[in-house]
Amino acid sequence: MKLASKETCTGCNACAYICPKKCISFKNDETYDIAYPVIDETQCINCGKCQKVCPALNPLEGVTPLNAYAAWSFDSEERSTSASGGIATEIYKYALKNGWSIVGAAFCEDFKVHLELSNDWGAIKKFKNSKYVFSSMADVFYEIYQKLTFGGKVVVIALPCQIAAIRKIFHKNLDNLLLVDLVCHGIMPYVYLKQYISYMEKSFHKKVKKLTFRDPKGGTQNYFLSLYDQEGNCFYSSNKLKDSYQFAFHRMVAYRENCYHCYYANNKRISDITLGDYKGLGLCAPCIFSKEKVSCILVNTEKGKKYINELAENKSIVAENRPIEEPIKGDSQLRHPSLKSFSRRLWEKKYNGDFVKSTQYVFRISKYRKDLLWICHLPKRIFRKILRILHIKK
Ligand SMILES: Cc1cc2nc3c(=O)[nH]c(=O)nc-3n(C[C@H](O)[C@H](O)[C@H](O)COP(=O)(O)OP(=O)(O)OC[C@H]3O[C@@H](n4cnc5c(N)ncnc54)[C@H](O)[C@@H]3O)c2cc1C
Repeated sequence: MKLASKETCTGCNACAYICPKKCISFKNDETYDIAYPVIDETQCINCGKCQKVCPALNPLEGVTPLNAYAAWSFDSEERSTSASGGIATEIYKYALKNGWSIVGAAFCEDFKVHLELSNDWGAIKKFKNSKYVFSSMADVFYEIYQKLTFGGKVVVIALPCQIAAIRKIFHKNLDNLLLVDLVCHGIMPYVYLKQYISYMEKSFHKKVKKLTFRDPKGGTQNYFLSLYDQEGNCFYSSNKLKDSYQFAFHRMVAYRENCYHCYYANNKRISDITLGDYKGLGLCAPCIFSKEKVSCILVNTEKGKKYINELAENKSIVAENRPIEEPIKGDSQLRHPSLKSFSRRLWEKKYNGDFVKSTQYVFRISKYRKDLLWICHLPKRIFRKILRILHIKK
């Protein structure tokens, strides 16, 4: 049996879940420490279920969104502690109020992240805000299966490749699922985060008790990665691109290989609703409100439309209709997957099992390169400025 290639496997675990012999397990590869499925051929009965369910081998066709909204939660506390407008939280709240179960990404031991199902209001706090690391789906399929089997309804908010896996597995039960995917530029393996945390602990002689990738204290729109110690004190906080982890994530340097070939990073969506940070707000139509902490909602199906309308009608969210092409123009992830930059290619050559060292090296080189390019382009810039001044004087 041949599973998805390293270029396309998302690590979603659907193959392992569906396998009747339970003979598929995940192992880290030797090149980049990325987890891929491995079949125990001695147990395999060649039933083909793993191939059929795989969202990489048999990708889903997406649909063009029906509407786009600029949106945010009416609750200012929820909005300030969420990655952007707090829409995910309002979707969860409405689901729980109506007796639905909710699925989201939460930290578990050692800052691993996994998707889990809950019926508890306390879970919303755990699910809220971005975790910029691979989230495991190893247990959540069974939890969803149990809910659906007993007639329950479930709202899932997750990455597009994860939503694809859920759609493939539960294709007969879509009526009882509301699927919400996030605009996504890629995800890094957990091994890198583990190495980064251990490096920071050694450097600061502190134990990391809490980690946040978009710390609300600095405003989540400013992307502060903060580390807190056992006493609850923040001992490290760095905004976008200032440290190795931030650089590797936001500069698309150390993602899983499949992220650079993602089938779902485009304007055809496979969920009922897509959420993102609203990039490009005002590009296609005037915008009279603040652009900060605004989410983008793409409504992709009639079911998604009804849900968002109900949230707006019951005054949980503000949702301003926007031209559909605006967020697509504003966010490259709604057009194509992340591209392999100079830094990524260098990192691929440099990675030797030590995430922090290889990333720090690439970080330094890319900074020198940027400075050098700036100096090289200086004469051109000065020349243009002179032309502009002469033009104004005329
Ligand atoms: C890895 C990643 C990359 C992203 N890239 C982009 C991008 O390029 N452009 C863009 O516009 N938006 C991107 N987003 C989405 C954005 O950060 C916000 O999640 C989105 O705007 C919704 O914000 P919110 O305030 O409504 O909800 P939030 O409170 O931020 O919650 C959003 C949901 O994200 C889920 N979540 C968080 N981390 C993970 C994870 N590791 N795996 C699976 N689910 C997770 C939570 O379960 C929660 O349901 C990305 C998010 C993630 C997690």
